[in-house]
Amino acid sequence: MHKLGGLSRGWVWAVCALLAWAGVAAAAKVTFTYTPPKGLSVHAVDLRGSMNSWGESAMARHGGSWSVTIALKPGVYQYKYYIDGHWPKNMCKGSRYGSPVSPQAQACIGDGYGGANAVITVKASSAPSEAQRLGFHFSPQQADDLSVAQGQLTLRFQVGDGRVQAAKVWVGRVAYPAFLQLRTSKETWMALVPAGTESFRFQLELRGGGTRSFGPYRSPAHPFTAVNWVGKGTAYEIFPNSFYNGNPANDLLWKTDRTDEYYHNPKWQENPSRPRPLETAWLDAPVTAELCCHQYLGGDLRGVLDQLPYLKFLGVHLIYLTPIFEAGSTHGYDTSNYLKLAPWLGKTSTLKALLHRAHQLGMHVIFDFVPEDTGLGSPMFQSVVKLGPRSPYWSWYTINKWPFTPGDASAYQSWEGVASLPLLKTTNPQVERYLLHVAEHWIRFGFDGVRVDSPSTMVNDHSFIRKLRQAVLGINPRAYLLGEDWNVAPQWLQGHQFDSVMNYAIGRNVLIPYAGGRYPFLGGKWALQQLSFIYSRYPVAAQAMGFNVLSTHDTSRLLSQLSNLGLGGHPSPLDLARQRLAIALDTALPGTPVTFQGDECAFLGKKSPDDQERYPFQWSQCSQAMLLFYHRLGLLKTSVRALHSPVWRAGAASGGVLSFYRGAPGKGELLAIFNDQAATKVSLPQGNWTDLWNGEVVRGSLALPRMGWAYLSLR
Ligand code: CA
Repeated sequence: MHKLGGLSRGWVWAVCALLAWAGVAAAAKVTFTYTPPKGLSVHAVDLRGSMNSWGESAMARHGGSWSVTIALKPGVYQYKYYIDGHWPKNMCKGSRYGSPVSPQAQACIGDGYGGANAVITVKASSAPSEAQRLGFHFSPQQADDLSVAQGQLTLRFQVGDGRVQAAKVWVGRVAYPAFLQLRTSKETWMALVPAGTESFRFQLELRGGGTRSFGPYRSPAHPFTAVNWVGKGTAYEIFPNSFYNGNPANDLLWKTDRTDEYYHNPKWQENPSRPRPLETAWLDAPVTAELCCHQYLGGDLRGVLDQLPYLKFLGVHLIYLTPIFEAGSTHGYDTSNYLKLAPWLGKTSTLKALLHRAHQLGMHVIFDFVPEDTGLGSPMFQSVVKLGPRSPYWSWYTINKWPFTPGDASAYQSWEGVASLPLLKTTNPQVERYLLHVAEHWIRFGFDGVRVDSPSTMVNDHSFIRKLRQAVLGINPRAYLLGEDWNVAPQWLQGHQFDSVMNYAIGRNVLIPYAGGRYPFLGGKWALQQLSFIYSRYPVAAQAMGFNVLSTHDTSRLLSQLSNLGLGGHPSPLDLARQRLAIALDTALPGTPVTFQGDECAFLGKKSPDDQERYPFQWSQCSQAMLLFYHRLGLLKTSVRALHSPVWRAGAASGGVLSFYRGAPGKGELLAIFNDQAATKVSLPQGNWTDLWNGEVVRGSLALPRMGWAYLSLR
């Protein structure tokens, strides 16, 4: 689910983080602490204030206290703690949250709501330390700097640009080399040491002579650890309604599904001019206003089961199914019953067989979970409609007036104001328990993880997702947690919430503009800067589990975005080369490349990049050439070790050329090179390289045609 337009908090957060980053050299470290008074049980605390634009800095629990340390430039800051989804009214005066709530507060000032914010003044520290002079920063408690992926502890430190010429990590008497991973306004260096390493220190060789040591540091007891299977194959998104009809016998069952919002929304029933859900043959022209939501095409779970060999052929090891539960629409984001499958999609036994067969084929399957709202057809919501305040579910929603007509947006709070999606009050412990129970149920059933829809629209988004993670991993520690966020969103990826967000910020904002080549100034250098910025903000474990989408059911098709062509158009050889470049680039990134169903067939769809693609999969018209290309890339992704590595290292870029390395430096390391502009010759680093696409050995330089690319492996 996605609302178009509006700047989200994640984006604002990223801009603020960028601004804050520029001034970090002059910053002083300030630790904020919170100790709950005796008898108060606390599950999550965030620092929110002018230092983070009233965003969230999660505080970590140490024994009975909570704390977070952040670098602050000299200045005056106002803040509050956000405790289990609640604001203490006054940060200085006594309340159930303690008195004072923050021992760091030097004063309090009116918050404009009758309460008071804490105030702290940060002064410039007089004598800069050695670390400050070098711009060195490393914090073992931060997932950005320390996490585990593919069985190795990955360490990253930042240092001023051009200050260091080499570095190593000492673990006891063993030295491990560090290497420059990427450059932003600073340099980020990276090293791999054995997982389980408890203590280590850094040794930096300075440019201009001399060495400096930092440490020893201790690893945290439970570092953010990547689930290893995620980065070892390709992923595939399935929108079941329009994928494949494996069982025509269930095609019309939506008509008997009395939870359909159509039947529950009197306003719609009273309006005969509103089109009814359509019964459409697979190959009919289905582009109507109802395609998004109410055009039942017949696709089902049996269809997914039938096509597992096809997915295996593409190297798929992770299937993301959009919602499959009883709902009022074809897309299923308006859930009626979280614990029952939509009847037109199939029976529980079919789902069981699908998961079983997928697991046999080495695939994982995640389900789409919509915890922020229900549909109008939900029995909980219908109970409120009928009984009002006497309903046991009255406190599950935020109702402004009763009685009301479902569909009346003024009567209750709804998702982004869409009246068919009444918001759940996730701060109500009963609602929270129910939703966690739902997630646990489906993980127990056999799903390998969960994709969470629109999490930032929940009032208590971060504390809810922390609990969801605990609940899911409590049942399956190898499960994968994916969140819908369209922005650069490190706030979710610190090891306590999601493993990855849907990386639209990479695919849609960097890879497609680069491969689309519509703006020559967005060439290789620009793309490398964007990727470097994002990877400087994401912990290595989150990079290693990246869910790298190019297009989804919420956007138009990849080829339509690259060619600006709609259904029935004729893509040129250059358009198709752009698509090959985009998916080759996506496949070379850490984590997993994600194909939206049918993109591998070079299908076109709706033209506008913001149009949601829900057109039925025209199996008979699949481009065999593009399919074979995806198949060969999928084979490389599953078989080349460097492509499973958590290491992404920036290479050279100029003109249309973009390059980066995968895998630890040395033999077996992979150099991926791309060119989105005119044919050119690229000089290669020393050594003999094998071109993994054609097996040829290259050295010295490599000729790249327009839209050319290569995966080179160091021999
Ligand atoms: Ca069917």
